[in-house]
Amino acid sequence: MDAIRTTAEGATALRTKQVKAFGTQAAEAALDQLNINRRKPTPHDVEIEILYCGVCHSDLHTARNEWHGTIYPCVPGHEIVGRVVSVGDHVTKFKVGEVAAVGCLVDSCRECQYCKENLEQYCEEGNVQTYNSPDKYLGTRTYGGYSESIVVDEAFVLRVPENLNLAATAPLLCAGITTYSPLRHWNVGPGKKVGIVGIGGLGHMGVKLAKAMGAEVVVFTTSASKVEDAKRLGADDVILSKDRGQMKRY
Ligand SMILES: [Zn+2]
Ligand SMILES: [Zn+2]
Repeated sequence: MDAIRTTAEGATALRTKQVKAFGTQAAEAALDQLNINRRKPTPHDVEIEILYCGVCHSDLHTARNEWHGTIYPCVPGHEIVGRVVSVGDHVTKFKVGEVAAVGCLVDSCRECQYCKENLEQYCEEGNVQTYNSPDKYLGTRTYGGYSESIVVDEAFVLRVPENLNLAATAPLLCAGITTYSPLRHWNVGPGKKVGIVGIGGLGHMGVKLAKAMGAEVVVFTTSASKVEDAKRLGADDVILSKDRGQMKRY
C-alpha cells in the first residue's frame, strides 16, 4: 500500500510553480533577481509565503563558493519565517494562515539510526539542506529563503508563536539554534558562568539565551563600541580582549 501511495505522490510532485528569488549565477556575480521552480505541495508538504529571511554568513560562504561545491544558480537563506498558504492532504501539524519557520534542513532519509534518534543532521544518507543540496523532487538543487515562497515537508517545518516579532524571529532558525544547542548540552543555568567571544550574529543571541537560562555571562570583544551593546543585551561583565589587563581578570 505504501509503495503505491509513494508512486502517486511522486507523480503529483512534478507539478511546479515559478516564483521570484534572489540568487547568484557564479561565485563572483552579485546577487540578482531570478526565477526558480517550487514543487506544488505533495501530501506531506507545507507551502509557506516567506515574510522574513535572515542573512547568515553561511549564505555568503555558499554564494561565493568559499566552501567549494556550490552549484549555480544558488539561492541562499536558511532563517525563514512566513505564513502557511497551502498544505498537502496529509499534513496534520499546520493550517493555512499559521506562522511557520524553516531552518537549515528540509529533509533526511527518516530511516537511519540517526534520523530515528531525531539527529537528522547526521543522517547516514546525507541530510538535505535548505539550499545547495540535491532536490529529490525536482532534480535541481534546493533553493533557500531569499525567495517569495518555499515548499517543505511538515516534519521539517517549525511552529512560531504569533506574538513574536517575526523579523526578529528569523535569525533564531540558524544563529539561535547554533547557540542554544551547546548551552543546553552543557546544562547552562543558575550557578554557571558562560563566556561569549564576539558580539556578532551568534554572539548577541548567545548572550541573551545564556542570560535567560540564568547563567552569569561574560562577553569578550575586540570592539570598545560593543561594550554598551553587550551590557544592554544582558552581559554581567564585558572584557575588551585587546586589553591585557582586563584579560588577566579572567
Ligand atoms: Zn546559518
Ligand atoms: Zn537518515
